[in-house]
Amino acid sequence: MEKPDGGWSLHGPRCAAADAKDPTPCQGPSTAVTVVDGTGREVTGCRWHSARLLASDGGARLHPMAGLLPCAVDIYCHAGDLPPFAWQVGR
Ligand SMILES: [Zn+2]
Repeated sequence: MEKPDGGWSLHGPRCAAADAKDPTPCQGPSTAVTVVDGTGREVTGCRWHSARLLASDGGARLHPMAGLLPCAVDIYCHAGDLPPFAWQVGR
């Protein structure tokens, strides 16, 4: 898969928030925001995959420092529009 702007590839490295079964590429910087998952593990990822992680892991939340980011509300809104494990239903 080509890397249009050197930022991503379907088969190349993606951010840490991307689920192994989620085929979607990262959108934006791969270290945009940190999510704390249900086990307390901190995962830093792009906005796209962080929202998908929030939608899929019932215990996940944005790291408290993410509240300082203008995009935090956008990520929560995006997560709210997604079903859990969106990639399983082709989203
Ligand atoms: Zn990503």
